Amino acid sequence: MKRILVTGGAGFLGSHLCERLLNCGHEVVCMDNLFTGRKVNILPFAEHPAFEFIRQDVIDPFKVEVDEIYNLACPASPVHYQHNPIKTIKTNVMGAIHCLGLAKRIGARILQASTSEVYGDPTVHPQLETYRGNVNPIGIRACYDEGKRCAEALFFDYHRQNGVDIRVMRIFNTYGPRMLANDGRVVSNFIVQALKEKPITVYGKGDQTRSFCYVSDLIDGMIALMDQDATVGPVNIGNPDEFTILELAEKVIAMTGSRSEIIFEDLPQDDPMQRQPDIALAKKYFGWEPKVALEEGLKKTIAYFQAELEAGH
Ligand code: NAD
Ligand code: UDP
Repeated sequence: MKRILVTGGAGFLGSHLCERLLNCGHEVVCMDNLFTGRKVNILPFAEHPAFEFIRQDVIDPFKVEVDEIYNLACPASPVHYQHNPIKTIKTNVMGAIHCLGLAKRIGARILQASTSEVYGDPTVHPQLETYRGNVNPIGIRACYDEGKRCAEALFFDYHRQNGVDIRVMRIFNTYGPRMLANDGRVVSNFIVQALKEKPITVYGKGDQTRSFCYVSDLIDGMIALMDQDATVGPVNIGNPDEFTILELAEKVIAMTGSRSEIIFEDLPQDDPMQRQPDIALAKKYFGWEPKVALEEGLKKTIAYFQAELEAGH
């Protein structure tokens, strides 16, 4: 049994990670400032004797005694990370420095939740970990993209300079229960719009692509990367099945039986045109690949949002 710190533990991915680690018999310290995270996300296991919640901003220094650290603190949806872009950069950079400083001091292994956004609007397809990306350093997504790139640089410098035991994971679009209904990400937007019989907002022509990974697969990959010794990363974790955004909209309409119409709105600045992970490294080093197909994952996510709407959340 290990004692494990999860920053951003009250968020979408963080809460699933905390729950899984508790189920594996570990002690979990969940640290979150509740910006996009919610107490209801951790409610199912809040009373677990091995669970502890600390309300803390990772921009400020902190001390805890743990064996491992998963650093997830950072809003992931463009709407939220662009709400206060300076804060987003500080969260990525100061958060990484504080977590790495702690890891160095207490000798903990530390995993960084990085992102496919480090590839920007990629000119190489699918994206391999060796691809260095095509990021606009002064655009509206830069607070997130460059913040995450700087965090990766810090992880590798702490590794080389101080021997910190790092793991770096590049997460591709992930969806599932506990996403915020209003966080602006495409899967939650389309499902909520369809369930409310409101227009489905496709940005641009809808010919941009994404590859959607169901949350349980993502958590399997995250823990597998943390627990192996073959690589420090970076390793892509995502589902290689690629869909256009229009295909996703049509799928959600068909699966919900909604009468919603599709409307087309302006494409946001610097919106990547295509995104598909090459997951050969994850397969090679720790035998990970996703198991949940889009339809199966969407079914569970639709059921979650249906229950949320019925409960008036
Ligand atoms: P989320 O917004 O649901 O969770 C982020 C959590 O971090 C929230 O609980 C939020 O309150 C907390 N947080 C934000 N700023 C903080 C701060 N300064 N101090 C302490 N806590 C803070 O997002 P998510 O989808 O669960 O993403 C988790 C991590 O995974 C993020 O680092 C994100 O960049 C990364 N990621 C997610 C995806 C995805 O598709 N979900 C894709 C790529 C990368
Ligand atoms: N998108 C859309 N309609 C929405 C929300 C998003 O067409 O209501 C598009 C968005 O422009 C992007 C894709 O869906 O091309 C994925 O957006 P999301 O914000 O989920 O994630 P990211 O762009 O970070 O991959």
